[in-house]
Amino acid sequence: MDIQSTTLVVIGGGPGGYVAAIRAGQLGIPTVLIEGESLGGTCLNVGCIPSKAIIHAATAFEEATHWAGDSKIGIKVADPTIDLAKTMKWKDTIVGKLTGGVGVLLKKNGVKVIKGWATLVDGKTVNVTPAGASEPTIRMTCEHLLLAAGSDAVELPMMKFGGRVISSTDALALTEVPKTLAVVGAGYIGLELGMAYRKLGAEVFVVEALDRILPAYDEELTKPVRAAIDKAGIKLHLGHTVQGMNDLGDALHVKNGAGESVHLPADKILVAVGRKPHTAGWGLESLMLDMNGRAVKVDSQCRTSMRNVWAIGDLTGEPMLAHRAMAQGEMVAEIISGKNRHFAPAAIPAVCFTDPEIVVVGLNATEAAAAGHEVISAMFPFAANGRAMTLESTDGFVRVVARKDNHLIVGWQAVGKGVSELSSAFSQSIEMGAVLEDVGHTIHAHPTLGEAVQEAALRALGHALHI
Ligand code: FAD
Ligand code: NAD
Repeated sequence: MDIQSTTLVVIGGGPGGYVAAIRAGQLGIPTVLIEGESLGGTCLNVGCIPSKAIIHAATAFEEATHWAGDSKIGIKVADPTIDLAKTMKWKDTIVGKLTGGVGVLLKKNGVKVIKGWATLVDGKTVNVTPAGASEPTIRMTCEHLLLAAGSDAVELPMMKFGGRVISSTDALALTEVPKTLAVVGAGYIGLELGMAYRKLGAEVFVVEALDRILPAYDEELTKPVRAAIDKAGIKLHLGHTVQGMNDLGDALHVKNGAGESVHLPADKILVAVGRKPHTAGWGLESLMLDMNGRAVKVDSQCRTSMRNVWAIGDLTGEPMLAHRAMAQGEMVAEIISGKNRHFAPAAIPAVCFTDPEIVVVGLNATEAAAAGHEVISAMFPFAANGRAMTLESTDGFVRVVARKDNHLIVGWQAVGKGVSELSSAFSQSIEMGAVLEDVGHTIHAHPTLGEAVQEAALRALGHALHI
């Protein structure tokens, strides 16, 4: 066994782990990053980036199809088709550029990358089995151990992934559009990819255990998405429980609210019922760390219950978002270098890339009231925004929530085409402690969707200008 030692070992090269390693390298901390699969983790390889590439391609194809009909803005194109295998190759080049870029950044900052699977021996020792080998050939010892092993898709016990039953990873690598796609779970993945495959031409239906879509968001916010789903002809089976596949294996067996069995034929069944921290199969249990449910428990500095063992990202539970993992990774590297940091963001933005998109930052009015704030809340509809009209996308709104006593903004919510790009302004205003007057009196460029942000703040103050 080749025995090596360093100051910091990072397990996992996803957004959490690779950002921690880059920052550690910048700070002069000798760092080794161990990654079993591909740099970039779930996010760059089989998550955020490929899904947004497919969503973009699907939207472009749908627009082309739309132009082939009777376009009111005067564009005509002949009968468009899509070569999904080519689309996937294009998606793979984007993934390749980004994951290659991560490798370059790690090298530039002096981080040593070991390609292989890490198994924990103790809180300072890790064995590494290189890809293709059956036994560990490297033993790393370190002063600090950072666990950034991410998460795995949850499988339904009665229908494991395989054959017609696919995970999001499989859905991001299909080379033909399925004729009928069943989606189990009307959450982030189910609706982002379900809507994309509908745009690509598949018949799509969604089975959801609860009685509404996107249960993590408030209902008013999800209404425009629901309307778009209905308009697109995606059938929703809400309040249905999945029993498994039928005996022939070509249909999904579900029970409706009345307990009646229904068989729903489908060529592919995308199961998207959540993700769970990746805690098994690499010796994590041997450290006997305190856990928070299925996740590794950490404090506000991402310290686990064992000294100098740190954990970040999806491994530490909700919200399982790439930007949270990155922020935690950057912070841990700084703490190890001696800086005094805590993970206490005023808010973590969440964006759902459905069409229309949803953005949430901070608290909605109900959550703010539950937190003990007396609040004012106002929304500004895109129907009154000039830019939205020119983009043919007037569905949706921006909503602000602020404290009644001092007008401190505690939350933003928006739904509409392209609102994901408003998330930075929302986050900054909350992180910087902006009050309604700050946003209302900031000159917002015209014509932009951002004017709806200013107008929502003005409306909360009682003097919106364009409504
Ligand atoms: P991961 O990215 O999962 O990385 C963990 C890495 O550790 C993996 O590369 C794995 O191979 C490696 N690893 C695990 N165990 C070992 C071991 N023993 N030895 C060596 N290596 C190991 N989030 C967003 O914020 N925005 C989005 O738009 C978004 N879209 C998504 C779409 C999909 C389809 C999916 C599945 C997820 C999406 N997410 C999105 C979530 C996002 O991908 C995760 O929150 C993020 O990747 C978590 O980063 P991480 O570093 O904690 O873990
Ligand atoms: P999710 O938690 O967003 O949605 C899961 C849905 O499945 C829920 O609506 C739930 O009620 C439903 N469900 C659970 N069990 C079910 C069952 N047996 N039958 C029918 N419905 C069932 O999970 P996801 O869509 O798998 O995404 C996983 C995670 O990945 C997200 O929570 C998020 O952290 C991350 N993600 C983020 C983005 C983004 O930021 N845009 C995109 C994709 C994924």
